[in-house]
Amino acid sequence: MLNIVLFGPPGAGKGTQAQRMMDATGLPQVSTGDMLRAAVKAQTDVGLEAKNYMDSGALVPDQVIIDLIKDRMQEDDAKGGVMFDGFPRTVPQAEALAEIVDVSIVLAIDVPDERIVERICGRFSCGNCGAVYHDSFNPLPETGCTCGSFAEKRRADDTEQTVVARLEAYHQQTAPLADFYRASGLLHLIDGDRDIDLITADMLKALN
Ligand code: ADP
Ligand code: ADP
Repeated sequence: MLNIVLFGPPGAGKGTQAQRMMDATGLPQVSTGDMLRAAVKAQTDVGLEAKNYMDSGALVPDQVIIDLIKDRMQEDDAKGGVMFDGFPRTVPQAEALAEIVDVSIVLAIDVPDERIVERICGRFSCGNCGAVYHDSFNPLPETGCTCGSFAEKRRADDTEQTVVARLEAYHQQTAPLADFYRASGLLHLIDGDRDIDLITADMLKALN
């Protein structure tokens, strides 16, 4: 059983790589960001609590996230392993995860801060299937998304102003996790400032 953690700053390419690795590994993507956005949209208790944090670029409290993950890991498709995308993001979250599953490898996507703003501000996703695109770096083909749709969706928090807060949260609360995983020998660094396909190939190599 393989439990992969995709680690890195906002906009590093975690979601992009998770979508590609899903095809190669058969493992489902578990994205706490996607789960929270679905909760906000459905106006559940979790969504109502999370919304203000997300809008301001701050992290949602650990206990909310840990409860979400505990529920998610009970589902059938998680039994054979998963790919965590955007989780864990704090040391307490990583400690809670260790009680639930054994993490097999942490793929840490390294991208310098100065790249992050341009990546996030040009990001959009397919309004139908959720595939991730970028205005300049990964544009929608003229024939539309591979699912056939031309619908584009943009995130409310993908603004230059919110990115600054998200990067700060990353450096203060999430980056220390690299040491946590390095100490257990699980951390595998991936240069994320390259072509999307090269990064995917490197990640698959790291898994073998
Ligand atoms: P994350 O899930 O880490 O927040 P995404 O996968 O959503 O990041 O990527 C952020 C944006 O950067 C998207 O618009 C995506 O198309 C683009 N992107 C992802 N990987 C690369 C790359 N290697 N080079 C250039 N742009 C990229
Ligand atoms: P990014 O593209 O920045 O990596 P995500 O989609 O992973 O963004 O997360 C969007 C927002 O959801 C974050 O800014 C944060 O408010 C919240 N969030 C997502 N995952 C977590 C987590 N594991 N812990 C705390 N907050 C989270």
